[in-house]
Amino acid sequence: MDIWHQMAKEWYWFVIVGALVAVAFAPSFLKGKCPQCRKRGLVSVDLDQVGQEQLASFGLSFPTLYNCRKCQARLYRERSGELKAADDRFTALFEREPTV
Ligand SMILES: [Zn+2]
Repeated sequence: MDIWHQMAKEWYWFVIVGALVAVAFAPSFLKGKCPQCRKRGLVSVDLDQVGQEQLASFGLSFPTLYNCRKCQARLYRERSGELKAADDRFTALFEREPTV
């Protein structure tokens, strides 16, 4: 029995199992990183119909609102652009969300 060959075969399985585990947990790793506290605590804010209409009236292109669960920062981003601090006009939208 070639010991090196045997070890290589086992590493191969480690890589496969590792990749599957990584894929299964990827969504939590990909959680947005908060630019203010540097932690991965960002969650997108789900708006109701009225909130969505209000947000659309700001004239932003595909905006998404984010709330940081760690430091309570309020942020927004257009399409997949940079995260920006949400100014006063967003306050009412964030306050529509039921607090968890
Ligand atoms: Zn934060």
